[in-house]
Amino acid sequence: MRAVDIIMKKRDGGELSRAEMSFLLEGYLAGSVPEYQVSSWLMAVFFKGMTSVETAELTDVMLRSGRTMDLSGLAGPFVDKHSTGGVGDKVSLVLAPMVAACGVKVPMMSGRALGHTGGTLDKLESIPGYRTALSEAEFRSFIEKDGFAMTGQTAQTVPADKRLYALRDVTATVESIPLITASILSKKVAEGAEALVFDVKSGPGAFMKTRAKAEELARSLVGTGTAMGKRIVGVISDMTEPLGLKVGNFFEVEEAMDCLEGSGPEDLMALTYRLGAWMLVAGGVAREVEEGERLCRKALRSGIARDLFLANVERQGGSLARLFELRGKMRSVHAYEALAPTGGYIAGIDAYKLGLAGVYLGVGRDTAADPVYPDVGFILEKKTGAQVVAGELLARVYGKDPASLEAAKDLVASAYAFASSPPPPRPLVIGEISAL
Ligand code: URA
Repeated sequence: MRAVDIIMKKRDGGELSRAEMSFLLEGYLAGSVPEYQVSSWLMAVFFKGMTSVETAELTDVMLRSGRTMDLSGLAGPFVDKHSTGGVGDKVSLVLAPMVAACGVKVPMMSGRALGHTGGTLDKLESIPGYRTALSEAEFRSFIEKDGFAMTGQTAQTVPADKRLYALRDVTATVESIPLITASILSKKVAEGAEALVFDVKSGPGAFMKTRAKAEELARSLVGTGTAMGKRIVGVISDMTEPLGLKVGNFFEVEEAMDCLEGSGPEDLMALTYRLGAWMLVAGGVAREVEEGERLCRKALRSGIARDLFLANVERQGGSLARLFELRGKMRSVHAYEALAPTGGYIAGIDAYKLGLAGVYLGVGRDTAADPVYPDVGFILEKKTGAQVVAGELLARVYGKDPASLEAAKDLVASAYAFASSPPPPRPLVIGEISAL
């Protein structure tokens, strides 16, 4: 087999076999296929696409490049959720204990903030002492005890994706639906869940900027995941404005706790219940989503979900005393109040712009090596649709230093749009694709 023939076949629109893709990827990892040939193949895939069989084969080849979590011997069902990333998206922190309280095990492997989007691991690590690098034995044991555990990917989780993603990043081939599908799905399948619910975000604050693109990705994830023998649901949700009222690492932990205590913001709760309900259906605990939502609401009302969250914080090394001590108080001294420049209705709050401003403030990072800060971000006082008078408080903004506030200021101001009449309501859940 020769790499050049495989590249040529894809360039001409052919369907590659598993053996051909293994040859390329395994050769790349072993050093026998050079980067320039893999780059050419990536560009050919970008333009010619892949069939669903090909995407599933590529996902499996990538999956087998590393270690997969072994959950055998534990009682399931095991269901996880993956979000394609947004601003203020702290759903996982509420969802995992809520779903676990309903009897579905959640083996959650999460990521870090990158660019304008936040990361679950950074949020959790803002709790003093909380550890997100669990050994496999800890992961298994914590799932067994509390019904869920939260960990990060290790160097052994799909190493092919780490190499390939870095290469896609510098060869302008990130935005390819089959490559994105294989990248996301290989990492999710590696964590051992039998069923997955994908929250594919759509809008300016999302990776997929348009509804059509988000739907295409959701269909691809559902189709490919199903072909790999998993039970999959794709939910497409709006990421035009930030989710909830808080954006920032510890700020979002606080808001997640509010949710678990029954006082979470409406948009955040609506999405959390919907995703949770699908997880219960996927895990066979509920027959349909309406029943799933009822069970999720009950798990929250009973306090069991909150207790499981707190049990997990302690289990993973977090200090509950510090968590409660810092709640509502962990705020950087470098802060300002963003005020309405005019009266009227808030017509929109651009999640992308706030997310980018968050990178300046120290919520997120530009490169994987940048530090993030727990006590910075936004506390939104008003959201889209609210009526305001000129000079009214829109948001409190906290930054890592005075320069970060200066850098963020114009971006924050330009994130808000105003109108003289209320904007039409936007549905949060835009679409659902179930292959259950
Ligand atoms: N997220 C991933 O994990 N992979 C991609 O290719 C894009 C987004």
